[in-house]
Amino acid sequence: MFRRKPLSVLPVLLAVIALIIGIQVKPLQKTGAPLPSPSPRARLSVTFIDVGQADSILVRTPTGHAMLIDAGNREDFEVIERYLTASVPSDSAGRPKLDVVIGTHPHEDHIGSMAQIVASSAIGRLCLPKAAANTRTFEDLLLAVKAANLKVTPAKAGIAFALDADTRVEFLAPNSAHYEELNNYSVVAKVTYKKISFLLTGDAESLSEEEMLERGYDLRADVLKVGHHGSSSSTGAHFLSQVAPKAAVISVGKGNSYRHPSRTTLKRLKDQGTRVYRTDRSGTIRIETDGTRLFYQVEKGASGGS
Ligand SMILES: [Zn+2]
Repeated sequence: MFRRKPLSVLPVLLAVIALIIGIQVKPLQKTGAPLPSPSPRARLSVTFIDVGQADSILVRTPTGHAMLIDAGNREDFEVIERYLTASVPSDSAGRPKLDVVIGTHPHEDHIGSMAQIVASSAIGRLCLPKAAANTRTFEDLLLAVKAANLKVTPAKAGIAFALDADTRVEFLAPNSAHYEELNNYSVVAKVTYKKISFLLTGDAESLSEEEMLERGYDLRADVLKVGHHGSSSSTGAHFLSQVAPKAAVISVGKGNSYRHPSRTTLKRLKDQGTRVYRTDRSGTIRIETDGTRLFYQVEKGASGGS
C-alpha cells in the first residue's frame, strides 16, 4: 500500500515506522556491558554484534572508514545503532558515516533493520546481491533505498575495493546468477588489512563454498565468520581446510529453534584447532588486528574462546 503514496510522504512514513519499531524494542537482557568504542590505536576492528539468531558485522579501519555487513532482525536496530554511534564518525547532520553497507542476502535475519539503517546513516555504497524476497522487510528496504536516493551496487564475485590505503575488500561470492536457495546468493566478503584476513560468509551454503573452491580463490583467512549460523549445510570439510582460520565466529541465538550451531560444524572447527567464539555465549565479539596479530574482546565471560 505504501507504493501508492506520493513520494514526498515516504521519509515521514519511514520515520513513523522506525518510531513504532523503536518503541516495541524489548529491553536487552544481557549480563555484560556493551563493548566500549574500538581501540583508537592503529588497529582494524571487526565487531560481530550480538543480534541473536541473525548477523550484523561492523568493520572499522584505523582511519575511521566503516563497513556494515548485515543488519540483524527488525528488533535489532537499537543495538546496531548503539555500536554505530560509538564506533563510526558522523557527518554534519550527526548521522553515522558508513562507506559501505552490504546486505548479504534478503532474509529477515540479515536485512531486518537495514531500512532503518539506510534512513538514519550516511551511506557511500550499498551492495546487495541480485536476489529478491517477497517480504515486507525487503520491500521496506527498497522503499528506504529509494527515499535516500541511494544507488544499489549489484554484489557478485570479483568486485573489489579499498576501504582505506591498507584495507582491501573482495567479494568471492555469489558466483552464479540463479540459485534455488536464497542463502547461496550470500555475498562472501574477504577483508584484508595488511597481513590479516577475515572471511565473512553470510549464509553461504556448501554449493557456494564449492563454487569458490572451483574458482580457485585464495580462501585463506585468519578469522572465519562461520556460514549460516553454524548450520551443517555450510562449512564443508574441504572449504574449511582451505580457509584454515585461527579463529571462527558463530553468530547465533541462544536456544534457537534451528539447533544452530550443528555438532558437525563445531567438531570440524575443533578438529582443525580453530578457536570458536559464539555470540550466544559471549555476546558481542570484537576482533582487532594491527596487521599481524589478533586481539579479542567479548561482551560476556572470558575472551579465550573454546
Ligand atoms: Zn541467516
